[in-house]
Amino acid sequence: MATAKSDITMEKIVSLCKRRGFIFPSSDIYGGLSSAWDYGPLGVELKSRIQKFWWREMTQLHDEIVGIDASILMHPRVWEASGHVSSFSDVMVEDTVTNERYRWDHLTDEQRETKTSPNGNPLSEPRKFNLMFKTNLGPVADDGSIVYLRPETAQGIYVNFKNVVQTSRVRIPFGIAQVGKAFRNEIVTKNFIFRTCEFEQMEMQYFVHPSEDTRWFEYWKAERLAYYEKLGIRPSRLRFEEHGPDELAHYAKAAFDIQFEFPFGWQELEGIHNRTDFDLSRHTEFSGKDLTYLDDQTNERYLPYIIETSAGLTRSVLMALCDAYEEEEVGENDVRTVLRFHPAIAPITVGVFPLVKKDGLAEKAKEIERALREDFSTFYDQGGAIGRRYRRQDEIGTPFCVTVDYQTMEDGTVTLRYRDSMEQQRVAVAELDATIRDAIRTYKRTDAHRRIGA
Ligand code: ATP
Repeated sequence: MATAKSDITMEKIVSLCKRRGFIFPSSDIYGGLSSAWDYGPLGVELKSRIQKFWWREMTQLHDEIVGIDASILMHPRVWEASGHVSSFSDVMVEDTVTNERYRWDHLTDEQRETKTSPNGNPLSEPRKFNLMFKTNLGPVADDGSIVYLRPETAQGIYVNFKNVVQTSRVRIPFGIAQVGKAFRNEIVTKNFIFRTCEFEQMEMQYFVHPSEDTRWFEYWKAERLAYYEKLGIRPSRLRFEEHGPDELAHYAKAAFDIQFEFPFGWQELEGIHNRTDFDLSRHTEFSGKDLTYLDDQTNERYLPYIIETSAGLTRSVLMALCDAYEEEEVGENDVRTVLRFHPAIAPITVGVFPLVKKDGLAEKAKEIERALREDFSTFYDQGGAIGRRYRRQDEIGTPFCVTVDYQTMEDGTVTLRYRDSMEQQRVAVAELDATIRDAIRTYKRTDAHRRIGA
């Protein structure tokens, strides 16, 4: 009987990520760059699968949501209109002894009142710090050539609102989805890939009639929470956190965060905001272009309200790793490390092994792996004891392993081994594809019972 151990730390997750090729420090051979990370062979698969999962949920499964891919560099007026130039700033303070920097809003009330750092030292005077990275477009670095690396992907959607309305069949209510890089010169970056200066967002901006904003806000809150559960995240590690009136961003009428319980505490995964007509009215004012929407059935012309769902992709990768990571005591003195990813996001779906290399078993296993490769991401491994091969796949979250043995050569069946339960089943080679597909489709993870198949 396997039992889960509970002392899961970030150190363990960071170490597994490096050891197995999920995530490396950026520019590793030069000693790394603070808070920048590179995705290795398994990490890039995990990230792109989470992105695909989100994209499918938000576009393919909705009639009325379309996608775009806007550029990172945008006209500088965009950021004046959005309010980022004047107010996208955090307040920073410094420990006057250690020179460590802190975000004012991340300190406790007592630390703020007494102007004392978490180390007990006096703090410097608070000062504002704009989070946008500035650069210059073209060879001459003067004021006229300043551009910003976008601090959010949302503005690329708003400035394309008219283009999308005019060129696609969308009618309000409808949404525009986008996934892409965003950049913020964060004062404090920590907790691995949780908060970095370069990150990826998955945003869907939903345009609604102003009289229907509350209804759609509630709708998207429920949809987005359900999405994480569908992704296999434990419901007990998810919760909503409402922004109080003094925490609301300058554009928001209402805001909820979806939070996840990371090993370092509850933190935001995604923001759901009612942005009203703030953005479209500001872009109307700054661009001089009419961004109103004409309802051709009622002849009403208006500026739509926007319900925003803004999730971090790179932060979702960390969530998936933290939620999936488990150490399990197996039998007396054995501990296995297992990543219980939803099979749809596991970097490798099926590991295929010959029990031994000889007697044609390796050739048969390769043949089966080549056939499965058409539909799943596969990995062939013939090295070491079979138990060790299973464990290596458990550690990177591979949900299914197939072993070819002598019986395979006689009756055309293989052993299908399930990551979560470690149970094994004899399956005919001809049935493998359908059996795996079915187990993925019916995958359900709850707090109490988290098993795939068998
Ligand atoms: P905070 O107040 O924590 O700095 P925020 O509330 O300003 O963040 P949003 O602007 O709502 O964050 O960003 C939407 C989502 O983008 C966040 O929920 C998060 O998943 C992701 N995100 C924001 N900043 C970062 C970052 N520096 N690194 C990684 N992901 C980020």
